[in-house]
Amino acid sequence: MNICPYCHTGRLRRRDMVYVQWHGDALLVVDRMPAIICDVCGEKAYDEQAVEHLQQLLWASASGQLSSSSSRLA
Ligand SMILES: [Zn+2]
Repeated sequence: MNICPYCHTGRLRRRDMVYVQWHGDALLVVDRMPAIICDVCGEKAYDEQAVEHLQQLLWASASGQLSSSSSRLA
């Protein structure tokens, strides 16, 4: 079990949290994002791998929009 790096007292527990992020003009909401949360101070951090995976998905969709708009131009 990991000790919280902020309060050094609480323990970090795994929990699914709502993740909200602006992506350009669009608000992205993920209902169940894996995260860890401190049971004492409430400090939370999202699972790094999950966030990274989400970024890759965003980049993939962003480049997909780019190519579809450029094919309309052509
Ligand atoms: Zn804490």
